[in-house]
Amino acid sequence: MTGWLVIAGLGPGADALVTPEVVTALAEATDLVGYLPYVRRVAARPGLTRHESDNRDELARARHALEMAMEGRRVAIVSSGDPGVFAMAAAVFEAVETGPMAWRGLDVRVLPGVTAMLAAAALAGAPLGHDFCAINLSDNLKPWSTVERRLRLAVEADFAIAIYNPRSAARPEGMSRALALLREACEPGRVLVFARAVSTPEEAVRVVALADAAAEMADMRTVVLVGSSATRVIAREGAPFVYTPRAAPA
Ligand code: SAH
Repeated sequence: MTGWLVIAGLGPGADALVTPEVVTALAEATDLVGYLPYVRRVAARPGLTRHESDNRDELARARHALEMAMEGRRVAIVSSGDPGVFAMAAAVFEAVETGPMAWRGLDVRVLPGVTAMLAAAALAGAPLGHDFCAINLSDNLKPWSTVERRLRLAVEADFAIAIYNPRSAARPEGMSRALALLREACEPGRVLVFARAVSTPEEAVRVVALADAAAEMADMRTVVLVGSSATRVIAREGAPFVYTPRAAPA
């Protein structure tokens, strides 16, 4: 039997946002690998072995998946959102590059998913309608000085910015520091969108001006979108529309 490995994105939460390509691969898989809450999003069925793990050792998890694929198993590693955005796909390729040459001959495919910032942007309107960038606020994998530098330069370049992993119990000060940096560099009316648990039953979206933003508005299930200087809010009854115009003035 020929084994394969797919690194599949489950989207932000709702079943309707899982791509048909991912649904098909999951139906053909013999083994499911991933962080526990993501593995649990895939229904159990006979013939599918679920390998749940904690979120710590991504490389070890990737190697385990590659070994199983070498043995002829059909393995799916699942991530939330898109697997290439702050998730497992890069860890798999790091394992391939540093692993046995035979791994390079494996059928390895990345199946994209709807990443959190796009689902959040769609809910708010079109805040990422012009140039934008994404930054992971977690300093597990890089020093905080790098986070700060990238944030500062992104603001200077006037990108809209999607902030992933804004806050955790272990690292509560990241978002406060980011807000302090934004307050130094941006006008108080700069638009922020705090989008929590998008496309799940707990979904909550807040649109606030930078002056009114607080770190407590974000948790680990929140993605924060920071508008550029051109981002607009259209007030109306209920949630406003937020958008960034397609063109920047010359
Ligand atoms: N691969 C994922 C990101 C993993 S990092 C993706 O492409 O979306 C985890 C971070 O993603 C969280 O801390 C949060 O910032 C964001 N996130 C993931 N799912 C989300 C959702 N449903 N709503 C809002 N933010 C989400």
